[in-house]
Amino acid sequence: MAAGAIARVAEREAERFRAANPRAFAHHAAATGWFQSVPFHWMRDWPSPVPIVAATAKDAALTSIDGQRYDDFCLGDTASLFGHSPAALAAALAQQAHEGLSYMLPTERGAALSEKLAAMFGLPQWQVTTTASEANRAVIRWCRGISGRTKILTFNGAYHGAVDDAFVDLKGGVPTMRASLVGQVHDLHGTTTVIEFNDGDALAAALNGGDIACVLAEPVMTNVGMVRDAPGFLHKLRALCDETGTLLVFDETHTISSGYGGHGVTHGPKPDLMVVGKSIGGGVPCAVYGFSAAVAERMAALNALRPDGHSGIGTTLSANALAITAMDAMLSDVITPAAYDLMLCGAARLVAGLEQEIAAAGLDWHVTQVGARVEFLTCPTPPRNGGEAKSAMHPELEAAIHLFLANRGILLAPFHNMMLVSPVTGDDQIDRLVGAFADCASVLKE
Ligand code: PMP
Repeated sequence: MAAGAIARVAEREAERFRAANPRAFAHHAAATGWFQSVPFHWMRDWPSPVPIVAATAKDAALTSIDGQRYDDFCLGDTASLFGHSPAALAAALAQQAHEGLSYMLPTERGAALSEKLAAMFGLPQWQVTTTASEANRAVIRWCRGISGRTKILTFNGAYHGAVDDAFVDLKGGVPTMRASLVGQVHDLHGTTTVIEFNDGDALAAALNGGDIACVLAEPVMTNVGMVRDAPGFLHKLRALCDETGTLLVFDETHTISSGYGGHGVTHGPKPDLMVVGKSIGGGVPCAVYGFSAAVAERMAALNALRPDGHSGIGTTLSANALAITAMDAMLSDVITPAAYDLMLCGAARLVAGLEQEIAAAGLDWHVTQVGARVEFLTCPTPPRNGGEAKSAMHPELEAAIHLFLANRGILLAPFHNMMLVSPVTGDDQIDRLVGAFADCASVLKE
C-alpha cells in the first residue's frame, strides 16, 4: 500500500470527520478540566482528529453527541462484549441501586455467584477485584507468596493491564522495562523474565531455572495484534509448569471470547489460576480471579503463617454489592452458551466476509479469529510471536482504515484492528462493516 495513498485517505477522512462532528470539537475545546481527556491515554489512541463523544449505547450500537450512529465493534474494548446494557443486567442494577451499593459484608447473592463462576470456568475458588489489572496484580502477589520465588514470566508484547511487573519487553532480545511506564523507580527486568510466545525451547530454558513463580499469559495473545498459539504450545507450557513447579496463570480477560468458559475450558489446557475482567460485569467495574483447590490450600497455609494486617490484596470496593449483582446477572442471563452460539456464528460471517474482500482486492492481508474476536492484519502471514506482530504493524495504514470506517458509522477499537461480535450484533451490522472495509480497500488502492 503506497504511503502517498494512505496519507491522502487519512487527510480526506480527517476533513470529513471535522465536517460531521462539530459538537465533538466544541466538547473537547471546553472540557479542559480533565487532564488530557478521560480516560487518560486511551483517548490519544483514537484515529480521529478528536475522539468521538459518546451519548448513549444499546446492544451493539452507539450514538455520539453529533447524532452519528455507529455499529459498535469496539464494545468498550471488551467490557461490553455481550452488548451494551443487556436488559437483564440493567434491571438487576436498577433494583440493586435501591438496596445499597457497597456494604463491606458478604451477601447470599455473592455465595451463589461463586458457584456460577466455578461451574462456568472449572476452578473451585474465587476472589473479586475491581479491575482485571488489579486481579493480575493480586495473582502475581499470591504466586510469589506461595511459591517463595521472586520472578514471573510473561510473553513479549503482552498487556495485562496496569501491572508494572508485566511492563517488560524484549528489546533486541534483552528484557527491558517499557519506556512508557510512568514513575516506576525500580527496574523490573530483573524479576520479570520475558520470552517470545510459541518458543518452547526458550520456555524450557527459563522454567528449568526453578526460580519463576508463575507464567502470566493470555492463551492467545490479543494485545499485540492477535497471535495464535502454535499447535501443542499451550500443552507444552502446561507440562513444563508442572515439571518445574511453576504456576500457570491464564489472563482470560480477552480470550473469554473463545467460547463458553473461556479459552482454557474450550480448548485446554487448564490453568492453576485464571483472571477474567471487563465483560464479566457487563461494563460495571469488577473482575475475578479463580484458582485450583491445591493453590487455595497453599494460599490458606500462607495466610496461617502471616501476621495479621494488610496483605496488599483487595480494596474497599472489591466485591461491592453492585459488582456482585452485575456479575450475577451477567452469568445468569447474558453470558450463556446460547449467547456464544450467536457470537461465533456472527464472527464466522465476519471472517468469511473480510477474507472474501481481501482476496477480491488482491491484498496480501489476512484475518485471525479467537472466537468472537476477529482481527485483520495488514501482512501476509500470521505472526508467530509478539516481536513479529510488532514488526508487521502499520500504524498509519491502520489509522486511515479506522477513520474511514468511523466516517461510515463503523467503530473499531483504536488498538490494532480488533473487532468484537456480540450476541446482539446483527448480520446487517456485520455486512455493513464488510462493505465499508471493501470500499476502504479500493480507495486505498486508487
Ligand atoms: N488483561 C488483558 C488481557 C487486557 O487486555 C487488559 C486491558 N486491555 C487487562 C487485563 C486490564 O484490564 P483493565 O484495564 O480493565 O484493568
